[in-house]
Amino acid sequence: MSINGKRVIQIINKIADVIDTNKLYLTELDASIGDGDHGLNLSKGFAAVKEKLKDDTGSNIGDILKKTGMALVSNVGGASGPLYGTAFLKAATAVDGNEKVDINDFVRILQAALEGIKMRGKAELDDKTMIDAIEPALNALNDGNRKGLSGKEALREAVDAAYKGVEHTKEIVARKGRASYLGERSIGHQDPGATSSALILETIYHELEE
Ligand code: ADP
Ligand code: MG
Repeated sequence: MSINGKRVIQIINKIADVIDTNKLYLTELDASIGDGDHGLNLSKGFAAVKEKLKDDTGSNIGDILKKTGMALVSNVGGASGPLYGTAFLKAATAVDGNEKVDINDFVRILQAALEGIKMRGKAELDDKTMIDAIEPALNALNDGNRKGLSGKEALREAVDAAYKGVEHTKEIVARKGRASYLGERSIGHQDPGATSSALILETIYHELEE
């Protein structure tokens, strides 16, 4: 399984559509433990991404991810803008110059994205953030590859692990971001950033051919 830059752009556009469709849901989640802007922030950012990628020829996947990251950093208000922006900028460096990417490249993309988020936000697993979806997803993807699953099958396991992580955020106290101001009262609520991360991974899974 390997995809070219044009396909990567189509997938990013699809992510923008999925975020837009889910913006009120994400914003409601954020209203319970934050300031109720997560979905609106992200949908605005991804609309800017779509615009920025409109004329891209797709020849360098690193460049596509870099444009995506820059558009997110400059158009998403709130913590998630710099975090998702850094994720895409770091991911870009993992595949700079690539005309195509395969499942092994995607592992490196996700690894770099996670490192970028951790570097930028100084959060760890179980702090009730997007990391609680992304890190288990990366681990499941690596396990799947090791078990010899197809790229698509390994990604299915990664998506399941991401949603398990999202469920787990309901049980833990927020230690980073706005939700951390609530302390123990954040228990029982699902983290919006973990939810958007799982949605993004699920979209990538659905868009990939067997
Ligand atoms: P803000 O909290 O500034 O309003 P958003 O509502 O757009 O920003 O995003 C909130 C999400 O950002 C949280 O649900 C959480 O997943 C994520 N987040 C916040 N702080 C951090 C951090 N330090 N590291 C990783 N993710 C974080
Ligand atoms: Mg918010």
